[in-house]
Amino acid sequence: MAGVTKTYGKVHALDDVSLEVKSGEFLTLLGPSGSGKTTLLMVLAGFTRPDCGSLKFGDEEVIRKPPHLRDLGMTFQSYALFPHMSVAGNVGYPLRLRRVPKAEVARRVEEALETVQLGGFGERRIDQLSGGQRQRVAVARAIVFEPRILLMDEPLSALDKKLRDQMQIELRHLHEKLGMTTVYVTHDQREALTMSDRIAVVNHGRIMQLATPRDLYERPANRFVADFIGESTFLDVTRRSDGVAVEETPLILSEPLPEARDLVMMIRPERIRLSETGPQDGANNFAATATEVVYQGDSYLLHADLAGGKQIAMRGAVTGKSVSSLPASGDKITLTIAPEDTVLIDAGEV
Ligand code: ADP
Ligand code: MG
Repeated sequence: MAGVTKTYGKVHALDDVSLEVKSGEFLTLLGPSGSGKTTLLMVLAGFTRPDCGSLKFGDEEVIRKPPHLRDLGMTFQSYALFPHMSVAGNVGYPLRLRRVPKAEVARRVEEALETVQLGGFGERRIDQLSGGQRQRVAVARAIVFEPRILLMDEPLSALDKKLRDQMQIELRHLHEKLGMTTVYVTHDQREALTMSDRIAVVNHGRIMQLATPRDLYERPANRFVADFIGESTFLDVTRRSDGVAVEETPLILSEPLPEARDLVMMIRPERIRLSETGPQDGANNFAATATEVVYQGDSYLLHADLAGGKQIAMRGAVTGKSVSSLPASGDKITLTIAPEDTVLIDAGEV
C-alpha cells in the first residue's frame, strides 16, 4: 500500500502509510492501543475505505474491490463467531457463501479443523468451547477457503499466558505449513518478536520502523521503537573533539557514529555486566552505586545510580555462584558494557 491516509474527524488513524508485504511472509503490525493497527488491517481487508492512497495485491489495484472479492481470510479482535451455530457451521460459513457443494464443504471443514487440531469437534456448540478452542475455530474459518492472504487482529489477546505461548507456536507452524501471506496484529512485543519474519512498529497512524525482529531489537531506528520493544535506559551523549562520551566516560564503539545531531545511548538491562574485578579493558565502564537488588528466580534486577546521578537498570543471570554474591544496596560497583552493545540512536522524539 502507498500513501494511505484515514482520518476520523481530527484523528489521523492512518497517516500516509506505505507498506509492502512480501508474498508468503509473516508480517506483524505492532503498536500501542489506538495506534492504527486495526484500521490498517481493515483497509487491507476492504472493510474500511481510506481517504486516499493506493493498495495493490501484486500488480492489481484493489482499493475499490469489496472484501469478499479480495481472497483473504480474517480473524477479528473479538472472535466474531456465530454463537448459535455449531463449530462446523461456523467454519463452513465462508464456503457456503461461495456456494461450494455440500459434500465438499464437509470435507474441507474437517480438514481445516484437523489443521487447527480440533478434528472431530464439528458438532460442538461454540459455547461449549474454551477460549483457546474458540480462537482455533476462528482461525479454521479464516483458512478454510485457502485464501492468498490471512489477516489476524490480536487473536490471542484474550487467552491466558500459557495458552498464548502455545498458540503462538501453533500459529507459526500453521503459517509454515500453509505458506499464506500473513499480516498479524498485536500490542505484545514479545509475541511479535516470537512469531514474525518482519515487524512494522506503528505509532500515531505511522510506521516507525519495518525490520526483522533482530534488527528492531538490536538497532532500533528511533527512541520510540527502542522504548516500545524491550526495556531500555537512555543516557545523554556528549560530543568531544576526540569522539563521544557518556557520564564523562569516552565511549568505545564498534560502529561508526550515526548522523543525527543529538544522540542518546540505549542500554538494554541484559547487555550490562557486573564486573567483579573493576574496569575492564576494551569495554565501556561505569562506576555506580547499587540502589536496589531484586531476586526474581531466573534472573536478578539491579538498579544503580551512575556517578552523574542517572539511574540505570541491569538484569543478570542467577547462577549458584552469582546468587551468593549479589551486591547489596549502597555497594560501589562497576558496570561494563561491550562496544557491540553500545548503541547510539537519534535523541529526537518521534
Ligand atoms: P489499534 O487497533 O491500534 O488499537 P485503531 O486502528 O482501532 O487502533 O484506532 C486508531 C485510531 O482511530 C484511534 O484513535 C481510534 O479511536 C480511531 N478510530 C478507529 N476506528 C474509528 C471509528 N470507526 N470511528 C472513529 N474513530 C475511530
Ligand atoms: Mg485494534
